[in-house]
Parts: sequence; structure tokens; C-alpha cells
Amino acid sequence: MADQPIPYARQSIDDDDVAAVAQALRGDWLTQGPTVAAFETAVAARLGVKHAVAVATGTAALHCACEAVGIGPGDEIVTTPITFAASGNAGLYLGATVRFADIRPDTYCLDPAKLAAAITPKTKAIVTVDFTGQPCDMDEINRIADARGIPVIVDAAHSLGATYKGRAAGSLGRISALSFHAVKHIALGEGGMTLTDDDGLAARMRLFRTHGITRDAARLGSAGVVEPADAVGAAEPPAWYYEMQELGFNYRITDIQSALGLSQIKKLDRFLARRRAIAAHYDEAFGNSPHIVVPHQETDRTNAWHLYVLKLRLHAMKKSRRQAFDELRAQGIEVNVHYIPLHLQPYYRQAFGYKRGDFPVAEAFYAGALTIPLFPGMSDADVERVIATVQKTVR
Ligand SMILES: *Cc1c(COP(=O)(O)O)cnc(C)c1O
Repeated sequence: MADQPIPYARQSIDDDDVAAVAQALRGDWLTQGPTVAAFETAVAARLGVKHAVAVATGTAALHCACEAVGIGPGDEIVTTPITFAASGNAGLYLGATVRFADIRPDTYCLDPAKLAAAITPKTKAIVTVDFTGQPCDMDEINRIADARGIPVIVDAAHSLGATYKGRAAGSLGRISALSFHAVKHIALGEGGMTLTDDDGLAARMRLFRTHGITRDAARLGSAGVVEPADAVGAAEPPAWYYEMQELGFNYRITDIQSALGLSQIKKLDRFLARRRAIAAHYDEAFGNSPHIVVPHQETDRTNAWHLYVLKLRLHAMKKSRRQAFDELRAQGIEVNVHYIPLHLQPYYRQAFGYKRGDFPVAEAFYAGALTIPLFPGMSDADVERVIATVQKTVR
């Protein structure tokens, strides 16, 4: 009998997670209720940030973040080409132009020197991505941004649990964004969160999450008045009263998802330990391969290991990446590729005229990139099978 395929990522859901969701389903709040706030508090406490705003997806979190820092038509954001589309799309939703800066050849994260060169007078945000789970060069990036008064938004979808010089990923930019998609560190099905120490940005993101509507007595009337009937003038507004002060979205997350999140975050340390052990195993197994470059780790930061990405030394191989990929898949090792450089996607080419050759380091990385399975539920036998199959196939 053939072995079961091993996916590149998979959620870990236990009976206690199921029980937490069942309890939420029997509660009074299926939509946004007290469990959302409890989940926000748990994540904020874990990462040492003042505010956490939970939303429907990681993409929504990035949209909230870009809106909160004031991105609008005619503005530019700068991000990395080696990311999921959402990192750039968040700017597109607001009418901004997305510019890119090339990556470092070793960490595959934004190269600070290239970033500095990509900034123009129109740049209104830098969106960095902690690719694979290793934080970017945040001191250099924050220095570049601060000198120009530009906010840094960190797409920390890969890096929950990582650290940079002892500080938690998610606390390193003006705003950070997490994703709780099923393949990420803690799985809610769909879900996301923004993190910030800034009271004003947090309030703005809470407003944006729910249509731009507020019932907060302290805010009522602050956007100009108002409803002419018996709502105004009284010491207390009537209980039905609310104001739509901005154009927001329905980006709410549910109590059901947040109950799962509260249950999952208790296991984050266990998940991280297992991810790190598997990554260490891979480092050892592939570190001396003539065909493979293992991920480079900076010593002043830790990696949360969302992904383990091999870079194939194509010139030393008899096969193409495509051949190696297809052969691994055929043997049940469900490798993947992260990411097709975003500037080469048809939408970005058509909107902004990007072309092959624009970001050569990112394109060279992509040509040899191969993501191998990594998730906490992998058994030791799974890990050994991945190693053996990759060693005999990648050559
Ligand atoms: C997963 C991911 C997102 C978006 O997450 P969703 O929750 O799927 O919307 C954004 N950026 C990166 C780098 C991601 O990996």
C-alpha cells in the first residue's frame, strides 16, 4: 500500500479545540461577542502589544492597517515581491500604487538598501513580510522609515512566535498583521488580527472593522452632526443610536472562531517547539547537500518556521525544479512553491508595467524555491520520509 501523502502544511486540531468551538456554538453570541475580546487580550498579552483588533482574515488585517495609516489614491506603498498577493493588494484596495524592493539573497526578506532606494516622496507605508517566519532587518527598516516619517506595517502572517533581538514578532512595526488561516501557526479556518501600541490607530481599525459605525459615547458627534430627531441634545444618546463616521467594511470575526483561537494559542509554544525541531532536522539533513541551499538564519532573531523553503542549486542539478517538484508530488511529498514574485502576476504587470528582470534577486530565488512539508503534526517517520525522498529525488 502506498504511503499517505504528506501535505506541506496542516492544522493541528485536538478534542479540546472541538470542545471549545462546541461551547461557543451553545453560547449567546455566534458573531462578535465577548470571546473576540478575550482572544484579542490573549494575543496582545502574549506578544506584549497594547492593542489587538481581530478581523475576518489576514488580508482584512492588512487592509485595516493600510487604511489606518492613511493610504489613499495617489499614494505608494513599498513591499517585497516574495510574498502572498495580500501584502500588496491591501494598498491596491485603497487606490495606492504598489512598488517593490528586492530581497536579500540569503534571508529572502526585504533588503534594507533596496528598500531605501525604492522610497519616493509619495511613499506612505512600507509593508515588510517576515518571510517563512524569520523577522526582517527591523532596526535598519525602522531607521529608514523613521527618517522619512513613513509608517512600517509588518505582515507577520508567517512569524507568530518569532523574536527579533528578544522582542516578539508582531510588536516590531507601527502596525503588524497576523493571519489565522488553517495553514498558519494557529488555525481558525479564516481569521486575522492587527497589533499596535498606538491608541488612535487601534480605534481607527476597530471602526473600519464594522462599517465605520460606532456607538462609543466618547466618539459620537466627533465626525459632525448628526441625526436631527430626539437623538441629539440629550445628556445621553438613546439606546438605538449609532453613527457611521467613516466608510468601513464588515470585517468582523466570530466568537466561534475566537473560541478556537483561544484554545489554539495555548498550544503555540508546543507547536513552535515541534516546528523548530523539524527545521533543525532538515538543516542537518540538507546542510551539506551539493544540490540544496538551506534557509539562512540570522543569530539575533528566532524563526517561527511557518515554511521550510529549500533553494535548489539548479546549476548543480541534472533535473529542473519542475521535474523535482513533480517527482516529489508523485511520491506523496506535497511540496509547494512560495512565492511566484508578486510583480510578475498578470494584474500587477498590467496595472504597473512590471516585467521579468525588474527584481532579479527575487526572481532567482523563485526559480529554485521549493517548500517541503513542515507542520507540528508531522511524525518522526514523516520527517524521515521527507528527508529520504528529497535526498534521492533532488539531484
Ligand atoms: C496567509 C498570508 C496572508 C493573508 O492571510 P489570509 O488570512 O489568508 O487572508 C497575508 N500575507 C502573507 C505573507 C500570508 O502568508
